[in-house]
Amino acid sequence: MDVLDRADLPFPESLPDFQRLFPNDAACAAYLEKARWGDGFSCPHCGVVGEPFRIATRPGVLTCRSCRRQTGLLVGTVMERSHTPLSVWFWAAYLIASQTQGMSAVQFQRQLGLSRYETAFGILHKLRAGMVRPDQDRIGGRAEEHVEVDETYIGGRTRGEGRGIHHKTLVTAAVEVRHREPGTAQDKRNDGRYAGRVRLSISDDRSAESLAGFVESAVMPGTLVITDDWSGYASLRKRGYDHHAIAECGDPEVAEEFLPIIHLVFSNLKTWLNGIHHGVSAKHLQAYLNEFTFRFNRRFYPFNAFRSLLGIAGGAESPTFAELYSGEWAHPTCSGYLR
Ligand SMILES: [Zn+2]
Repeated sequence: MDVLDRADLPFPESLPDFQRLFPNDAACAAYLEKARWGDGFSCPHCGVVGEPFRIATRPGVLTCRSCRRQTGLLVGTVMERSHTPLSVWFWAAYLIASQTQGMSAVQFQRQLGLSRYETAFGILHKLRAGMVRPDQDRIGGRAEEHVEVDETYIGGRTRGEGRGIHHKTLVTAAVEVRHREPGTAQDKRNDGRYAGRVRLSISDDRSAESLAGFVESAVMPGTLVITDDWSGYASLRKRGYDHHAIAECGDPEVAEEFLPIIHLVFSNLKTWLNGIHHGVSAKHLQAYLNEFTFRFNRRFYPFNAFRSLLGIAGGAESPTFAELYSGEWAHPTCSGYLR
């Protein structure tokens, strides 16, 4: 059963609520235990069901009463092998989930009262790794909705490096376009159109392989896909999509009319990257795209993100600080595979 549907796993809706639910590491461990074994602990070694022994000084470890072997609550989660107390992880997940804009590693370090910046940075990035569901569905696939796809350039400082030199990164996005019920308060804005789920990915270039390839990884076949008339999208019909290419999309007014929602997503993304993180390096951009996608797709359900973070984080592979900086770690892309 999805952890989000479990009424026995409450999530905090306010700061006092959080303090009441998760006063210490033991309370956090109990929550994790309940998430994994809703009907009570069952030993993965011998299969016996029943209350395990608990060690007060090691809240992340359960010992089977029958075979005496130990089971780690944190194995396979982003918290595994971490020296950071469970309550700090929970506090971190709560901060990430409850702040619609998220925060920088420096703000995060201050809020968590951590002495080392590296610890704050590591926690943030590990939780971000949990923001991608490895088995994430492709978007679209609904008859009443179409999907807009477009690409944009992000970041890159060009000052003092001469003309034509830039460090911008190409980002391709797909967004579901939904329609508000006629007569509701907001149905006048954008003709009543609004964004459903998004998918965002770094693209190597504007070739058909990159762009149409992105669509294939992010959007269900058969979906009506609207793009501009760039050749990189020309093969979409052949690849099984109901493709409409809008001519002269270089004209901002035409683009605004036919691809309004994707442009809204790009503008939100750029504001968020520049405002909160003051721009990010190309190396970590995919992680920020994942965070943006996570927040965007859960923006109507802000508090679900907390449990979702802890739940999703369970199966996700996450980087060590050394891996992050050696460049060995590849941030998962929006569709869950490593690029
Ligand atoms: Zn056992």
